[in-house]
Amino acid sequence: MTVTGVVFLLVAITEIALEPGGAKVFGAVTGAFSAVLVYRAPRAGLVVDDFGITNRTVEWTHRIPWCEIASTGPAVGISASGLGTSLTLVTHEGRRIVLRGLAGYSTRRTTARLQKTKAQLDARIADHRTSCPTCARPGPA
Ligand SMILES: [Zn+2]
Repeated sequence: MTVTGVVFLLVAITEIALEPGGAKVFGAVTGAFSAVLVYRAPRAGLVVDDFGITNRTVEWTHRIPWCEIASTGPAVGISASGLGTSLTLVTHEGRRIVLRGLAGYSTRRTTARLQKTKAQLDARIADHRTSCPTCARPGPA
């Protein structure tokens, strides 16, 4: 993803430097998109800390506090090809959040990685429920 961004950034710089009018605008737009891609792609993934879970994708970042998370579960068929898989968080209000920062193709290796991550997240959720004074919810929701 980062390599793709760098290639598009170089094409954009070339268009801005060498091409007339309209191509410069196209180059500027392509360059801005590429710069975002180059900056965000290496930061995509999941961050788990005392606050909760931060889900970073190329497009956006979502922070979900532990207090809002009711459960975790699988997310299948999440890509345009239908072959992508990841995990979801379900909030106490019933909102489902796909953790696209963990997404990968449905392979045995990905499935094993996601099962391990799910077990770790479930343990953190359970720990939070026992130690958080504002989470007086009995058991998993
Ligand atoms: Zn809490």
